[in-house]
Formats: sequence, structure tokens, C-alpha cells
Amino acid sequence: MEEKEKTPGQQLREALLNQKKNGWDVVDQATEQAIFDYCEGYKVFLDKGKTERTCVDYTVELAEAAGFVPLERGMELQPGAKVYRVNRGRAVNLAIIGSIPLDQGVSITASHIDSPRLDLKPTPLYEENELAFFKTHYYGGIKKYQWVTIPLELRGVVAMKDGSVINVSVGGHPGDPLFTIDDLLPHLGVAQSQKKLGEAIPAENLNILVGSRPLKDDDGKDRVKLAVMKLLYDHYGIREPDFISAEIEAVPAFNAVDIGFDRSLIGAYGHDDRVCGYAGLKALLDLEGVPGRTAVCVLADKEEIGSEGVSGMQSAFFETFMGDLCASQKVPLRVCLEKSFCLSTDVTAAYDPNFADVYEKNNSAQVNYGIGLCKYTGSRGKGGASDAGAELVAYVRRLLDDRGILWQMAELGKVDQGGGGTVACYMANRNIDTLDAGVPVLSMHAPFETVSKLDCYMTYAACKAVYEG
Ligand code: MN
Ligand code: MN
Repeated sequence: MEEKEKTPGQQLREALLNQKKNGWDVVDQATEQAIFDYCEGYKVFLDKGKTERTCVDYTVELAEAAGFVPLERGMELQPGAKVYRVNRGRAVNLAIIGSIPLDQGVSITASHIDSPRLDLKPTPLYEENELAFFKTHYYGGIKKYQWVTIPLELRGVVAMKDGSVINVSVGGHPGDPLFTIDDLLPHLGVAQSQKKLGEAIPAENLNILVGSRPLKDDDGKDRVKLAVMKLLYDHYGIREPDFISAEIEAVPAFNAVDIGFDRSLIGAYGHDDRVCGYAGLKALLDLEGVPGRTAVCVLADKEEIGSEGVSGMQSAFFETFMGDLCASQKVPLRVCLEKSFCLSTDVTAAYDPNFADVYEKNNSAQVNYGIGLCKYTGSRGKGGASDAGAELVAYVRRLLDDRGILWQMAELGKVDQGGGGTVACYMANRNIDTLDAGVPVLSMHAPFETVSKLDCYMTYAACKAVYEG
């Protein structure tokens, strides 16, 4: 076909203006195949790691298969050494020691592996009208109406007084029973439907139905509750007081699936932020040879409730891990951190044409346009943001463009419509140059979120670029 000569206007436009392109129009066939292959592994990661604990378990399994060993204090670390350290079963840091000394800094990707969900209360089990329920306390920012009438599974641990820890997992295996939270039938929902969306399902109504068969030959008022407790005792050896030292999470019982006739998207629970966690992890595992700067992958807990606590990004666990790496080369930690770079990888909002009025189209991330770079997050006047410096953004533009990685700029939505944060500010507070970036998500924080496979892959490619420097 004869190429039409470009008009001067077209030439100027191409030379001077932003060129936004749908990623599927840009990638070649080999990259298309790589995108689909990569996402098969990601879906397994999602299904196995529906909680931070199970996500850590599977991460360790993958890391050990790739030759990683637990980091011990005082260990000698040669370039190429692969180490990891688990933080109390709920978070994990991994590193590959580079050929460049640690006083020249490290390359970090940091994401979180906790997701919004329903936690059981310390005294969860009760009976009402001959039905047994678990009381829950929601974790993270959820829209409560989305959590009723969907199948739920239970995953977590019960820590016993004797020091043993019992793993609980019901619903994740074929043939397992599932659980659910009931909602009002529309026929009687006249008053409910008049309420505000955020008030129609009160938090104390998020009670999980767990049984309805009473204990036989008994006349107590709690025969259904007692029968459920007996089943739990028979199977796990736990009694009601043991719930006090338990962490059991109700999470959606459905697995990750392809969405769309063209299979271009993935629907699943917990893309936020395991989609970036997997990208960082897989990029690290796929690194060939010895990297230049030491590559560090951080998978943190508790981001959804402010990165607080001993397993959150604010914890000194990170300094301890990095300090132990630095000690092996007798490098002061502060010298290492001030020269380090961190890509804080967390999901961003994808422009949703069904709710167009809350987005500002020129500055929102679009599905299929690649990893979204966020110079700042936060709310209102950038409150709570770690506003990355212009020079740092330029560095990342170059890093990604040089490798043909598709990226776009991303603001969460219109100014003053809301906002959000990530672990970025806690990395930046440590004197680490940090930029936010991540996969655009539709229906963020819903039990079933949607992302584009192309964007997942570009985030993986971006993490790899960070490690390779
Ligand atoms: Mn997140
Ligand atoms: Mn979130």
C-alpha cells in the first residue's frame, strides 16, 4: 500500500504533542504471546495467595525453587547471592546482591500483598434464630454492599496457647463448603432502598452464615452454634476461646478468570496489589546473571490500613533487612538508602466510562495503555502524597522508553473527588528517591476487580527495567 505523505500539521503533531496509543496497536506478536503467558502464572499466584499469609507462602515456594535462601545475620553475601526474609508470616523482602557495592544504592520495587476483606472478630461465633453466624470486622476500604450474597471462603491461622499454629482453609479445595452473607429480598427492601448506598448494609450486618443444623438430643438455646463448634473442634482441635488468638479472613471464593471474548482482561479478587507484587517478584526471579545494583523486592502487609504495625511498610523490618545486607559490605545503611531508587508499585484507578464524571480524562490512566506512573497520589491538595521530583520522573521516562515499555501518566481521578495513598511516602521518608507506578484497575477494592493483561505485563517489564537499571 502506498504511504500517504504526511501534511505539515501531522508532522508537527507527531513531533510536538503527546502520542497516546492503545497498547495492543503497538506490541508485536511475540510480545502478545509473552503477555498471555505471563498472565497464566499471575492467575495462579492470585488463587494461591488470597491472603497475605498464603501469598507469602507461595512467594517463598517460588523463590526457593529459584535458588533463594533465608537471609541470616552475619551471612557472607557474594554478588549473585539470592536471599529472602519473611516478616512474621505476613510480609517478605527478597534481594539479589549486585556487582555494584551497596554504598551506590539499591534498586527497589515495593508493593503490598494485603487486600480489603472481612476479618473474623475475636468472639465471632453466635446463634440467632437457629442459624449460626461469624461476626466480622471489615479490613480496608470496602463498599459493604458488594460483600453480601457472594460465595466466601475462609483462610487464616489459629495460634494456640501451646505455641502451635493451626492453618485454617475452608472453601479453597474442590468439594469444600463455602460461606455467604445474606441480604434483604427486594420485596421487603422498600425502606433499605431509600438509604444511602454506604448505609444500606451496616458493618454489623456483615455476618457470615456458617451453619443451620442443631445438635441432636439437646435442649440448649445454642444447639446450632454448639454443633458448628463441635465440627471445628473435631477437625482443627480448636475451642471458642482460641478464636481470640486467630487471624481468619473471609475472602471471595471465586478464582481468577479471563474476562472478555478476546480474553484481554483478568477478573479476580485482590489485584490490589498482588498484581504489582507478582510483577516485582517475577521480575526478580527472572533476572539473569548478576545485576548491577542489588535488586530488592518488597512485599508489604497492612497497606490497606495505613501501612501501620510491625508488618506494614512503616515498620523497621525494612531497615533491619537492608541493614543486614549493608553489614555484609560494612556500608552504613544511610549511605545505601540515599542513593537508592524505589518504584512504589501499587494499582491506580483506570478511567471507567460508566463513571466518567469523577475522572479527568487527560490525566487518568486508561486500560491497555501500559503501566501508570503517578508523580503524586494523595487527596485534595496532594495531602499525604510523596510528590516525586521532576528529575526522578524524567529518569523513569527514559528507563521505560529506552526499553519500549508502554507507560502512561495516571492521576486517581478529578481533584477533590477523593484520593488515596500507597507505601511510597514511607519509602521516600527513608531518603529513598521514590516514584509511584502501577496497573490501572476497574472496580478497585471490589471483591472482583478487573485489570488488563497488557498492563500487567508492562508493569512486570517496568520492574525488570528497574532492577536492570
Ligand atoms: Mn494498593
Ligand atoms: Mn487499596
